[in-house]
Amino acid sequence: MAKINVHAGHNPSGKIACGASDLLDESNQARKIAKEVIRLLKKKGHKVYNCTCNNGTNQRNVLERIVAKCNAHGVHLDVSIHLNSGRNDKKGDGKTGGCEVLVTKRDGIKGDAAESICEEIANLGYNNRGVKTADGLYFLNHTDAPAILVECCFVDDMDDYELYKKGNYKKMAKAIADGIDKVLA
Ligand SMILES: [Zn+2]
Repeated sequence: MAKINVHAGHNPSGKIACGASDLLDESNQARKIAKEVIRLLKKKGHKVYNCTCNNGTNQRNVLERIVAKCNAHGVHLDVSIHLNSGRNDKKGDGKTGGCEVLVTKRDGIKGDAAESICEEIANLGYNNRGVKTADGLYFLNHTDAPAILVECCFVDDMDDYELYKKGNYKKMAKAIADGIDKVLA
């Protein structure tokens, strides 16, 4: 049994500081995925907190509120759910943009969880962009517990969109929950 914080990135769709919106809407889908990840992890016996922020006043404030919620609980892992953008492949070229998981360092529980989640999402058919290190992300740099940021798939790639539609948020959430559970069980 592990303690885990999970949240969906950004403010809700349509508000200031909301996520990317294209073929898929990041804020909407990330919230559905996060909610389902939490349900599945609880079912596996973990103690899980939802640290999503729905009323931030700007982008920085959203991040500060999320981190404050995260650090209010002692947990083994902090998980942020996002959808990526920047492929701009509206027609579909037969290749998904796919998944990546960001960490400050590829070590310990966060490195293991990041790799495990990438593998599970790739098993759904998405391209595995792998674990990447980032040193400028507020969330990753300010949580007390090890933190990972999951970029599930791309909002602006027709191939990602078609694959996502087949399994919707439920398959994506199951892949993330399984990836976490394999490392933190
Ligand atoms: Zn995002």
